[in-house]
Amino acid sequence: MLKAVEGIIVNETNYGETSKIIHIITKEGIIGAIAKGAKGLKSPLRSYTQRFTYGNFLLYYKEDKLSILKSVDVINELSNIKKNLILISYLSYLSDLTHQIMKQNNDETLYKNYIDGILKIEEGLNPLIICNIFEIKALDYLGVGISFNACCKCGSCKEIVTIDPDAGGYICKKCYASEIIYDEKTLKMLRMYYLVDISTISDLKISDKVIDNINKFINTYYDRYTGLYLKSKKFLENIQ
Ligand SMILES: [Zn+2]
Repeated sequence: MLKAVEGIIVNETNYGETSKIIHIITKEGIIGAIAKGAKGLKSPLRSYTQRFTYGNFLLYYKEDKLSILKSVDVINELSNIKKNLILISYLSYLSDLTHQIMKQNNDETLYKNYIDGILKIEEGLNPLIICNIFEIKALDYLGVGISFNACCKCGSCKEIVTIDPDAGGYICKKCYASEIIYDEKTLKMLRMYYLVDISTISDLKISDKVIDNINKFINTYYDRYTGLYLKSKKFLENIQ
């Protein structure tokens, strides 16, 4: 069956002397395909089967088996990202994270958030903010989403005083022990990160302090609750 899918190649491996196997993140999940002859110098598939090619892929589709790649139509070259090592690191991490989640839980909105995030980074928006927005939304698909409605200890919606990554969410005045108090702007912005539709973001005016608070919160929360260990994430933390 001939089938067209939109997606981004997340990895490529050699297959025999002349071919490659690629894996594509698509809204239907991860699709593996053989790109026959793609290593040949004259192959039209050669440059379109590299990691992070974003395009429409025409496949002879086989369910639960490797498909066969017929042709690729590039949607966006992602050229701003690809000429900047830090931005490539973000792309790499967002792709790894999406890949990991899709292995267990696939949802079209996850794919949409992933593509929207990458396109915003390509447009020049702050990659750390976009990455954090994606991460906070991704928690829902990992089954460890944060409740932005009530205290995570008692369920009360009243008198929320802070949020704590170790406790797993909001903390109300009654349950408060000695957790770090985040200022109101950080609390508000964290909730905005969760609610915003990434494709609609055009301008980001957030103070460095708030950006930093949120990033630290998310890193701690991920370490504590997701069980994920991604090298691309550790790499990003080291260059931030
Ligand atoms: Zn409480």
